[in-house]
Amino acid sequence: LQVQLQHAERLAFVGELSAGIAHELNEPLGRVLGFAQLIRKAGSLNEQQEEDLERIIKASLYSREIIKKLMIFSRQMPQQITKVNLNTIVHNILYFIDVRFQSRGITIIKQLEPNLPEMMADEVQMSQVLVNLITNAVHAMPGGGSIHVITKGNTTNVKLIVKDTGIGMTAEVKDRIFEPFFTTKEVGQGTGLGLSVVQGIVDSHNGQISVNTSPGKGTKFEIQLPLKQEKKKRSS
Ligand code: ADP
Repeated sequence: LQVQLQHAERLAFVGELSAGIAHELNEPLGRVLGFAQLIRKAGSLNEQQEEDLERIIKASLYSREIIKKLMIFSRQMPQQITKVNLNTIVHNILYFIDVRFQSRGITIIKQLEPNLPEMMADEVQMSQVLVNLITNAVHAMPGGGSIHVITKGNTTNVKLIVKDTGIGMTAEVKDRIFEPFFTTKEVGQGTGLGLSVVQGIVDSHNGQISVNTSPGKGTKFEIQLPLKQEKKKRSS
């Protein structure tokens, strides 16, 4: 319990810190982007300058994505709970990413339960969960492999399972994957926030995550979410 408490306290602290940093950075970054776009609009740049400006804009947009992740992680993004169908979310997300991975020898296999019950959830956040899990699965399979995306449901819960045939994790890595900023990836490949975001979203939906992994064999993430959400006061 002591360890759990320490972990929770640390998470709360990092969450608060991240929220502060994200908030502080968002505004000046907005200005960088705004002015860069003004310069682009004005034209009259030579080719090299245009290229440099595009780099500034791209880097700013990338930074904005990181800030967005930080905000979700620290739950600064207000939740929009509506009735959603997890199967529809899976279809929509895979529609966009499926083709991109085929060329890398990655096959995505859907096993979606027909007549899956609808659930109350934030659709954007649920999509984010799926994208993060699939992104990690893809990173874990540099030589190709397969990803199973499975949905299941009963009268009280739905389950989302993402299973890969990738490199798996050692017990030491598995212990740390939900720590904010923990990553085994190279700089630029990972921020170490993907699974912290996933956990933040699942927690805020009163769900649970379990992980099964085996080095060299693959990894399975299983997320269980209640169909209904109690109205709750935001704890600060
Ligand atoms: P990032 O992907 O930016 O590193 P995450 O929080 O998403 O951050 O993941 C943390 C770490 O967990 C990864 O760096 C990786 O070591 C491990 N991990 C996550 N998903 C998988 C997976 N499907 N297979 C193997 N390792 C994984």
